Amino acid sequence: MEEIILQILDALRRGETVDDRALVKLVHVQARRAGGDKRAFAKRRLLPFYQRVKREDPERWARWGITPELEEGLIKVLRMKPRRSASGVATITVITKPWPCSGSCIFCPSDVRMPKSYLADEPACARAEQACFDPYLQVSARLTALSQMGHATDKIELIVLGGTWSDYPAEYQIWFMRELFRALNDDATVGESGSSARVGSSDESGAAFAPSGSSAAPASFGPVAASVSPGSSAASASFDPAAPAPLDPVATEAVQREVTDGRLSYNQAIVQLYGTSTAWQEAARVQCATMDELEREQRRNETARHRVVGLVIETRPDAITPEALMNIRRMGATKIQMGVQSVDQRVLDANGRGIRVAQIERAFSLLRLFGFKIHAHFMVNLLGSTPEADRLDYQRFVAELAFQPDEVKLYPCALIESSRLRGRYEAGEWRPYTEDELVGVLIDDVLVTPAYCRVSRMIRDFSSGDIMAGNKKPNLRQMVESRLRARSEQTGERVQEIRFREIATSEVDVRALRLEVVPYETPATSERFLQWVTPEGRIAGFLRLSLPKAAAVEVLASELRAAGCEPPVQPGEAMIREVHVYGMAARVGEEGGAAQHHGLGSKLVERACELACEAGYERINVISAVGTREYYRHLGFYDHGLYQQCKFRTEGMLHHG
Ligand code: SF4
Repeated sequence: MEEIILQILDALRRGETVDDRALVKLVHVQARRAGGDKRAFAKRRLLPFYQRVKREDPERWARWGITPELEEGLIKVLRMKPRRSASGVATITVITKPWPCSGSCIFCPSDVRMPKSYLADEPACARAEQACFDPYLQVSARLTALSQMGHATDKIELIVLGGTWSDYPAEYQIWFMRELFRALNDDATVGESGSSARVGSSDESGAAFAPSGSSAAPASFGPVAASVSPGSSAASASFDPAAPAPLDPVATEAVQREVTDGRLSYNQAIVQLYGTSTAWQEAARVQCATMDELEREQRRNETARHRVVGLVIETRPDAITPEALMNIRRMGATKIQMGVQSVDQRVLDANGRGIRVAQIERAFSLLRLFGFKIHAHFMVNLLGSTPEADRLDYQRFVAELAFQPDEVKLYPCALIESSRLRGRYEAGEWRPYTEDELVGVLIDDVLVTPAYCRVSRMIRDFSSGDIMAGNKKPNLRQMVESRLRARSEQTGERVQEIRFREIATSEVDVRALRLEVVPYETPATSERFLQWVTPEGRIAGFLRLSLPKAAAVEVLASELRAAGCEPPVQPGEAMIREVHVYGMAARVGEEGGAAQHHGLGSKLVERACELACEAGYERINVISAVGTREYYRHLGFYDHGLYQQCKFRTEGMLHHG
């Protein structure tokens, strides 16, 4: 492997480009020379090898004559999945422990080893199970993997997935968040032996579940601020990640069979399995923390090496209430993933969603007033729908004032054995669309997606072995996009959605960028989407500005006061809901040195302030993540309750302090 590294370095010194094809050639030559298997020299092994030499054999590393520029070039060559951190932000997805869900949707998988809707062999789930759902261990393992893959880990987006967040006990939620922040603050990484360098931990525990009584119903969600768990930091349970799983696999399999055959609901199975496990109950006793403890870790994170620049939780529209959003925001969340699936009441009912369209509309308004970014899940090919109905449904979703998500996971319903949909499939009441039908619907959906919305995914991470019927092609998105390109060439239709236009890993001339403002209305706010675009219409950065309507803010305030909470926002306050600048643009700016290359993000903020001021607003809030607080302080914002705030001078300039 040393030979390959040295050859890459030589090429870089000569000013040559080493792309993936050149690297594969080097690997083949080296494998032939060594008379061995080329997998021994696989790309994924090269960077960890380089990092190990640098760490453990400094003399050998010094002989390689590496300069900071050379190292940067080398890491770029060896980086795995470069798009993963193309925005300059590395994502860490963590999964909460198995727990009952208040929903019972017909298409939803029921894997008793996982929280509702997830399957054990989805990549993030497999990692979570290995870590016994311990948030600290999940983060530390992921930090290690990301750095071995060559990704920067100074800016982290945490995505917390698993059933419905609001269904978990408040103390578990706070503990889970505290552990995520603590792992990042401790710079916890997993050594090569697989053991975790877990430092300063007095109360770590394995994952656990303690159902309340024997009821299959999820624990009720109370105000987080009021729930201080007894003995949280004093309680101590030593956790050994190498310990055998606390659940008997034979018993687990038997229970799973009963769920799959419909004799037991997922919720009943969870109570039966975990409620009787002493190990899980013991661990649950220490899975609690106070809000003070969480806030202490959040403050540490403001200046930590791995800062949280985004925190996402997942919940249902009917769980979104003003009080729940106050709690979620206090925990540091900046974005909500919300399962919508359809805005056709008939389809929602046919699929057992138990949600009214009016609840979805209200959830959207509340999320906007609180400043959250709204990432909706939307499905096609649900029971009771047709390709034509799907097109209309999605069009309503992205165009009607009440909805208009910021981001969509748009994916087809697939039949998983453990879902209740299986019975309907066997009865001939549901069939998967043909590939042509599916791709046709998705193409039309993408084409009607507006410029301020990002279609983040088109498939779930299910393995093809888990899918009994439905799309099994992991490259569905590429298929859709290649047909879209061909169609655009013929018809001149243009794709507006964000992901298709992102500059991603390519470098752009920042001097050629122009700032566009796309306005749109919602029932609660006037929205302004500010985007940096290249002459070809590609997007290098954007900002979401909400201008809340006074009447909507008043209604929210009176609801919160009735619930005993002080409203977090006031009339006359605008809200920055998101600022995003793609990494390559930022990097080009740094290298280029030209003044106009710098500060795409701060220019967006400046322009948002001007727009808010021109619209008559006196102050502006930003829903900053914990790790971006310093950045906003630097821009003149001060800490203000759940947000950071800035007052305008009359002419629209920022007022410091
Ligand atoms: S609410 Fe979500 S997790 Fe719960 S059953 Fe429905 S789809 Fe599954």
